[in-house]
Amino acid sequence: MLKPGDIHLCQPGPEKSCGACCGLYNYRDSTRESLEARLEARTALFHDTVRSRDDLETFSTLVRSTESMEKRYEVIYCCEYLGFIDEEHRRVGCLLHPLQNNGEDLRDVSFYGRDLCDGHFCPSYHYLARWEQQAVVNSIDDWYLYGLVITDIDLVKEYFRFIAEGLGEAPDPELLKTGRLKDMAQRFFNFKTTWPFRSPETNRLGKYYFDGSQYMISHIDYDALGCERSRFDKIFLSLTSRFRSSNELRKAEGLVEDSISAFIDYYRDHPQ
Ligand code: SF4
Ligand code: SF4
Repeated sequence: MLKPGDIHLCQPGPEKSCGACCGLYNYRDSTRESLEARLEARTALFHDTVRSRDDLETFSTLVRSTESMEKRYEVIYCCEYLGFIDEEHRRVGCLLHPLQNNGEDLRDVSFYGRDLCDGHFCPSYHYLARWEQQAVVNSIDDWYLYGLVITDIDLVKEYFRFIAEGLGEAPDPELLKTGRLKDMAQRFFNFKTTWPFRSPETNRLGKYYFDGSQYMISHIDYDALGCERSRFDKIFLSLTSRFRSSNELRKAEGLVEDSISAFIDYYRDHPQ
């Protein structure tokens, strides 16, 4: 249950939303282009063919037989009822939700069932401080990136920890709503999709990888690189990193360092 004043991380506003726990990023091909095409097609199909709950079985069968259902982690369900819930296709969400169906709640037909779908609040609700949640919500206006970041507790916490240590205080999330600081934070979070040292393995997402039967936590073999554990280790794991040499590791540290320092310097030089 959300308390008054809590931020609704799943649907924080008109520019973005998250569908990660409905399996959004668990397709083997979870690139933006692929997910966008998938969600657009099933949203159109839903609106064209579903007139009542009697049509849902046919909808489900059609989606599951026409889309590739190859997964990253077999143990995580990918729900066929996740689609776009606004006209501009800026928000992902549940096509069975009452707000999409003239007040009728159809989620009881889903794999998880209505109660789980309705009552699930992922660990980001508990482990991210309110200001960290607000900072992510304010700095990202893109459903694809937002869902990847708001669910990556290590990435968010580590990024803002280094910034807070540099500033001597937590940054004010209100300052991430517009302007250079928003751009800087967004550029850092964009590493989720543009990171040059990203492992090509498709059974990995952030720090997790799937070994064929269960998913486990990755680690970076610093001994093999002849290096000490990096102070950015958690960030690197969140970015699904693979380093083939100490040179690559140093370059990666430089990218993260520059990004964090630029934010701190600008914040300090432009007191509000
Ligand atoms: S992963 Fe968390 S924020 Fe995203 S939709 Fe699920 S509960 Fe909401
Ligand atoms: S039915 Fe449940 S799992 Fe499926 S999209 Fe809706 S909320 Fe997500």
